[in-house]
Amino acid sequence: MSQSLVTMSYIIATILFILSLSGLSNQETARRGNYFGMLGMAIAIVATVLSDSVNSYVILILALLIGGSIGVKAALKVEMTQMPELVAIMHSLVGMAAVLVGYANFMDSSSNLAGVEKIIHEVEIYIGILIGAVTFSGSVIAFCKLSEKISGKPMLLPARHWLNLGLLIAAIVLGQLFLSQAETGGGTLPLLLMTVVALAFGVHMVMAIGGADMPVVVSMLNSYSGWAAAATGFMLSNDLLIVTGALVGSSGAILSYIMCRAMNRHFLSVIAGGFGTGSGGEAAVVEGEVQPIDAEETAKLLLAAKNIMIIPGYGMAVAQAQHTVNEITKLLRDKGKKVGFGIHPVAGRMPGHMNVLLAEAKVPYDIVYEMDEINEDWAHVDVSIVIGANDIVNPSALDDPNSPIAGMPVLECWKGETTIVLKRSMASGYAGVGNPLFVLENTRMLFGDANATMQAVLKALKG
Ligand code: NDP
Repeated sequence: MSQSLVTMSYIIATILFILSLSGLSNQETARRGNYFGMLGMAIAIVATVLSDSVNSYVILILALLIGGSIGVKAALKVEMTQMPELVAIMHSLVGMAAVLVGYANFMDSSSNLAGVEKIIHEVEIYIGILIGAVTFSGSVIAFCKLSEKISGKPMLLPARHWLNLGLLIAAIVLGQLFLSQAETGGGTLPLLLMTVVALAFGVHMVMAIGGADMPVVVSMLNSYSGWAAAATGFMLSNDLLIVTGALVGSSGAILSYIMCRAMNRHFLSVIAGGFGTGSGGEAAVVEGEVQPIDAEETAKLLLAAKNIMIIPGYGMAVAQAQHTVNEITKLLRDKGKKVGFGIHPVAGRMPGHMNVLLAEAKVPYDIVYEMDEINEDWAHVDVSIVIGANDIVNPSALDDPNSPIAGMPVLECWKGETTIVLKRSMASGYAGVGNPLFVLENTRMLFGDANATMQAVLKALKG
C-alpha cells in the first residue's frame, strides 16, 4: 500500500475515533460511537498491516492470532462485574508494550539518527519506558485490588510523599545520565535503573490509594495508558498511534477530573498518589436497630407512593437484577406513579456502570437522572429503593469527618419519606465502612439477593 494511502487511512481512522468518543458521551448515541470506534480500529489495523513498515507477515499474523484469540476469549468469559478488572489488566498490557518497544528501539542498531534527532529519539525512548513502566505496575496493582487478590486498604508507608519525590528526582537524574551515556553508545544501566524506579512508583502510588478512591485510579490509569501509547507512537514514528494515544490520554484525564469532582478530591493529589485515606481516625461504628421488611409490604408501600426513586449500585450488577427492575418500573409507571433512577457518578465498579446496565434492560433514558439533578428533591420522594448500593448512600460521608469517604457527595435518599434497602446482609460496601442509613427510623431493610427480592416484589405487585 502506498504511503499516501496509509496516511489517508490513518486520517479516516482518527476522524472515526473522534466521532466514537463524541458518540460515547451520550447514552442514546453510545452504540453508534462503538461502531465508529470498531470501524476506525479495523481501518487502522488493515492500513498498518498493508503498509511498508511490516517486514515479516508470519510473525505479524501469528501475533494477531495469539493476541486476537486471547482478547476474544477474555471478552466472552468476562462477567459484567469483572469489567473494571479486565480494563485494568488491559491497561497494564499497553504499559508493557510501551516498555518493550522502548527497549527494542534502544537496542536497534540499524538506526542512523544523528545530532538533535538522535537526542530527541533518546528522550522519546526514556519517557516512553518511564510512562509505560508506571502504567504497567500501577495497573497490575489496580487489577489485584479490584479483583480482591490483595486488600483494598491503603498502604501508607511513613514519609510516602518524600518517597515519591525521591523516586521522581531519581528518574530525572537517571534521565540525565542516560542521555549523556547514550551519546557514546552506552546508557543501558541508567535505563534499567529508571525502569525499576518507575515500576516501584507505579506500585507505591496505587497501593497507597484507599478502596473508595479506586474509581479515580481506574480512569487515571486509563489516561496513563493513552500517554504510553502516544509515547510508543513517537518511538515508532507512527502518527496514528500518537493521535490515538493522545485521544485516550486526554479523555482519560478529563474523566479522572470528573471522577475527582464526584468524589470531592483534588486532581493533583491523585496524580501524586496516596490519597483517600480520611483523616486517620476510626470511622463510625453503626449502632441501632434494623427494621426488616418483606416483599409484600414493600409492594404495598410502592402502591401507596406517588413519587418513587430507584438507586442502583454494585449489588444490582452482581444480582443482574436490572431486567426485573425494569419490569417493576414499567408496571409502576403504568399505574401512574412517577418513577426515576438516581445515578451516583461512582456507583458500581466502573464509570457509567449503572447506565450500561439500565440501557441493557431498556430503561427509558429520560427517567435516569444524575446525582446533581435530583439531590435537592428528596423531600418530594415517597419511597426510594436502594438496590445493592451502599457507599453511595452513606450519610457518614457528610457527617463523619473520620470516615474514609468523608467529603464524598452521596445520594441523600434518607431525606425522603421511606427508604427501602435491598442487600443480602449488613456487610459494608467497597470502602469497608459501616452505613448508618440502615438503622435510620425511616429505613427498611429487604434482605436477600436483589434479583430474587425484586422478583418477589414484582409478583406481589401483580398479585
Ligand atoms: P458498594 O460496593 O458500596 O455496595 C454494594 C452493596 O451491594 C454491598 O453492600 C453488598 O451488600 C450488596 N450486594 C452485593 N451483591 C448483592 C446481591 N447479589 N444482591 C443484593 N445486594 C448485593 O457499591 P456502591 O455502588 O454503593 O458504591 C461503589 C463503590 O465502589 C464506591 O465505594 C466506589 O468508590 C467504588 N468503586 C467504584 C468504581 C467506579 O468507577 N464506579 C471503581 C472502583 C471502585 P451484601 O454483601 O450485604 O449483599
